[in-house]
Amino acid sequence: MRNILDSLNDLRIKSAAAVADQAQAKTYTLDSRVRQLEEEVDNLTLITMAMWELLRKSEGFFLKDLEAKVEELDLRDGHLDGKMSVTPAICNDCGRKLHERRRTCLYCGAPVTPFER
Ligand SMILES: [Zn+2]
Repeated sequence: MRNILDSLNDLRIKSAAAVADQAQAKTYTLDSRVRQLEEEVDNLTLITMAMWELLRKSEGFFLKDLEAKVEELDLRDGHLDGKMSVTPAICNDCGRKLHERRRTCLYCGAPVTPFER
């Protein structure tokens, strides 16, 4: 009886260790993705600041013009929420919705054809 309980506990420990390994691998992947997004945000911030400084030098261009344009762009999806709408891509293999910027399916790994606007 003792051996059966020990074997059962060994199986539970191995199963928990496998789950922990999977969680650690997922954490590594997500951490990498967050770093990639941070780099993209830094790059976009730099570009936006450069564009703003160039525009500010133009005659007759004011902050209110920029704010009006931001509001106009924000409203293109029908919601004034400070966000751009995202058109989801659909995986050709599994049919799941994906972020438009994904080049491979998050769920099945199939290549995703970029959405044409
Ligand atoms: Zn898929």
